[in-house]
Amino acid sequence: MGSFFSLSHIILALTLITLIGCTTARIEYDRMTGTQYPQPETISGDEVNLTTIYWQGERLVAVDEDTTNIAPLTGPANPLDPNQYDYITLAEIETIEIANRRDPIGSSTFPCGYLNAYTCTRYHLYGIVVDHYWEGDCGAACRKTTSLGRMYAGASGTTNDRSAFVNFWKNATVSSDNAKYLRSTAHEIGHGFNLNHCDGDGSLTIMNQTGVVGNTFNYEFSATSLDHLQNHADNEVWPGLSPRDYACPHVH
Ligand SMILES: [Zn+2]
Ligand SMILES: [Zn+2]
Repeated sequence: MGSFFSLSHIILALTLITLIGCTTARIEYDRMTGTQYPQPETISGDEVNLTTIYWQGERLVAVDEDTTNIAPLTGPANPLDPNQYDYITLAEIETIEIANRRDPIGSSTFPCGYLNAYTCTRYHLYGIVVDHYWEGDCGAACRKTTSLGRMYAGASGTTNDRSAFVNFWKNATVSSDNAKYLRSTAHEIGHGFNLNHCDGDGSLTIMNQTGVVGNTFNYEFSATSLDHLQNHADNEVWPGLSPRDYACPHVH
């Protein structure tokens, strides 16, 4: 029997810390001038933020607030459509992402740990708060002032790799109710992690749609969501790696 603090124990501990602690998702979070990021909430004396929410699923999520002065869309006024620039389309959001996104899609690796002896992996997710409402892909008929946000790198996006989401600041709830704004952001990130609405519990948890939870919600994941985050293949969980899987229940 060696000492409890034998070299092998120390190496084991360092290895565990490195394996668990250096695989992260980093959100490159941009916003337009005049908007705000969701702020932490205090629940029963504890701070709740995007990192604490995702740690429930044993996924480390870091938020990097990056560019904060992207100009809202504007242009010559059209007398036939004076509110045109209150809305933003998927193509317009993707154009802004291309112009401002610093991090790659997918993962990157870098040396880390004692004497850079390890390789850490970082998965990238892009988020942007736009000072607009959502306009779907059928023009003015698809304008939607009630949409809080969306994970737009899904089946209708150009990449379908779960690599980006948007918040709509003009939505009255987003700009006036931080608790719901934080919940909505955690929900869209959930789609980035390949969670679906069927992964909600039907009443309180993050992956329910806003209309389902109403004013009564928590910042927790259902058992189904936790099973996906904690146990399903990394390629199907970390953002930016594989197509959105809409199957309920998960078949991957
Ligand atoms: Zn959703
Ligand atoms: Zn899954």
